[in-house]
Amino acid sequence: MKTESEGKNLQKSLTHKWHNAWDKLDNEELEKALAVNERYKSFLDTGKTEREASDEIIRIAKQNGFISLDCFIESNKSPEGGEKLYASNKGKGVVLFVIGNDKLEDGMNIIGSHLDAPRIDLKQFPLYEDSELALLKTHYYGGIKKYQWVTMPLAMHGVIVKPNGDKISIVIGEDEQDPVFFITDLLPHLAKDQMDKKMGDGITGEGLNILFGSIPYKDDEISDKVKLNVLKILHDRYGISEGDFTTAEIEIVPAGKSRDVGIDRSMVGGYGQDDRACVFTSLQAILAIDKPQKTAVALFVDKEEIGSVGNTSMASKFFENTVAELVNLTDKNHSDLVLRRALSNSCVLSGDTLAGFDPNYPEVMDKRNTPYIGRGITLMKYTGSKGKGGSNDANAEYLNRIRKIFDDNQVVWQMGELGKVDQGGGGTIAYILAGYGMEVVDCGVSLLSVHGPFEIASKADIYMTYKGYKSFYEA
Ligand code: MN
Ligand code: MN
Repeated sequence: MKTESEGKNLQKSLTHKWHNAWDKLDNEELEKALAVNERYKSFLDTGKTEREASDEIIRIAKQNGFISLDCFIESNKSPEGGEKLYASNKGKGVVLFVIGNDKLEDGMNIIGSHLDAPRIDLKQFPLYEDSELALLKTHYYGGIKKYQWVTMPLAMHGVIVKPNGDKISIVIGEDEQDPVFFITDLLPHLAKDQMDKKMGDGITGEGLNILFGSIPYKDDEISDKVKLNVLKILHDRYGISEGDFTTAEIEIVPAGKSRDVGIDRSMVGGYGQDDRACVFTSLQAILAIDKPQKTAVALFVDKEEIGSVGNTSMASKFFENTVAELVNLTDKNHSDLVLRRALSNSCVLSGDTLAGFDPNYPEVMDKRNTPYIGRGITLMKYTGSKGKGGSNDANAEYLNRIRKIFDDNQVVWQMGELGKVDQGGGGTIAYILAGYGMEVVDCGVSLLSVHGPFEIASKADIYMTYKGYKSFYEA
């Protein structure tokens, strides 16, 4: 038998190599991984906005035995170990709990992710007619590259609340029989001045106007006939008039379903994977938990993409207040101190998507310290920009605990950071939870074309993230 050279053995024991997650999947696990991704795609298609994703999470949670926290509050019943609860934050955020054997005071294992994704919102007085076309004014939401959103089919999702309080949910453009919407771009033949501009200026925010209709209402006595005709269609179909736009929340997203990408079908392409990749995998993980030692929490928040502000965001008191309700039910000696301890003794994976290495743009990433799609769940010690500014910088001791959990459970993982030093940067909800004294580290799925209308994830990473999250809850 050939023996390895001394140097080879030394190299094996002293150097570190990252693994490709596909290499680590045997046939049985591969089948599981592909099945998880089929559910992932339908989750992406059902929940394309924060409201829809929120509804879908609650629907799935109820199906799996989760009961509304309000039921426990009303009956003043203390949930036992293994009981499953949910609470909704205004239909735009959800928290799921699986009660553990330990007291809440000893802390929880929390995975937090966000339900909102970059998109284009209608303005509050959007409809106008110009050149016998009906158009809708918009104001984009989150970090988009505006040029990516023109000349593609768009769908309209949202709610309209009428003066009598009736709430109408609309989804137009997802069914193949539906019409879609559109933002025009200039033909190349006449785009000389546009093409000379910087990329960021080629399409302007005020230029993102939605093409909405073009048939005039038949009446020679009036002007703005096309506008009137689309208003009549809206009134006939939904019973709304122009004034109802003022209070509506209508979001424009790319139309259509998520798809397999690649001849080997190894990737998922679809809208809103930042951050529904982590939303879905943490949801699947908590559904798989029965009687954890520590209370398992899946927290889904809104408004991350605009800086975690507002009453449905991570910065709102919703989560803290919900845990206070829970402490009040489970602990007879409930005091503010018990709540503080429950929060500060908690451990968090801040589930957010990260930028995978893109061979088309190697210049913005440090190849040795960037995540790669296909190398499993990504841990990111810090985010931030310009010298880690604004970052939650996870503690070495905590990082090591997470590393051990992943290694002990055959979770393929990698460590990375967001781009080269001083190339840009970003943040997540991590620092807000860290503010309670919790141990927090960013940990999620790395994507290609993050924030694009169609983002790419590796199916192996989706599976490993699910597996990693589940092992965190079980640890
Ligand atoms: Mn994100
Ligand atoms: Mn984002």
